[in-house]
Amino acid sequence: MGKKLIIGNWKMNLTIHEASLYVHKLADLVKIHQGVEVVLAPSHLALQPVSLQINYRQFKLAAQNFYWRDEGAFTGEVSAHQLRGLVQYALVGHSERRHIFNEHDKDTRHKVQAAYRNGIVPVLCVGETVSERVAGETRDVLHDQVTGGLANITSEEAAELVIAYEPVWAIGTGNNASPTEVRAAAKMIRTQLKHLFGEQVAESVRILYGGSVTLDTAASYLSIQGIDGLLIGGASLDAHVFSTIINNTHDQLKGIKERR
Ligand code: PEP
Repeated sequence: MGKKLIIGNWKMNLTIHEASLYVHKLADLVKIHQGVEVVLAPSHLALQPVSLQINYRQFKLAAQNFYWRDEGAFTGEVSAHQLRGLVQYALVGHSERRHIFNEHDKDTRHKVQAAYRNGIVPVLCVGETVSERVAGETRDVLHDQVTGGLANITSEEAAELVIAYEPVWAIGTGNNASPTEVRAAAKMIRTQLKHLFGEQVAESVRILYGGSVTLDTAASYLSIQGIDGLLIGGASLDAHVFSTIINNTHDQLKGIKERR
């Protein structure tokens, strides 16, 4: 089990004040672990104050969303260009963006390119709906979302990429995908990456699992071959739960190392 990436997606939760209290609490609870990279994804409003509060050796930041043009007359939008230097990662194509805000692969493609253009690592979220799974279309959906989102990027850029496998039916529902389903999906994604960018790049892309991860289920997902971390929504809003997941991950990694 190599280094793990754990991202907490706060979605549209926490005021600036609450975010500050949360980060203060989390910083006390989370030890700095070499083997675990922790990324917080607050709302845009809280990004700047949180950036002043954190130790970047302990936490990095991600934007939950952004618009792909760098600047211009796009009222209400925030660009990757404006987020440059503030965040190290940005979510792209989260299922809530795809299904509530009607974003398509064309949008995710533009956003992936805008993130790279501005020195931000995109976390491309992919995953099938329940009806697509029942219809046996999971492989096709993942193929289309990976290919559609990654057109026109170089192999060097792709090597830095993070992909989050998040079955839509598991996000915020309490329904967990089984480790077997997650392993199979990660394999499909890596095979597709290999077709697009070659074996070496496919192996270096980090693939995360997301979808109703809890304190009780986190370890089982992290031990799946081909899974490099977690994208956690609901459970990341409780500083005690989130910090325990992070510290347990460190202990899990340490246990594996010691047994070798
Ligand atoms: C998410 O926001 O990406 C997510 C996986 O949410 P939850 O953990 O609440 O299902």
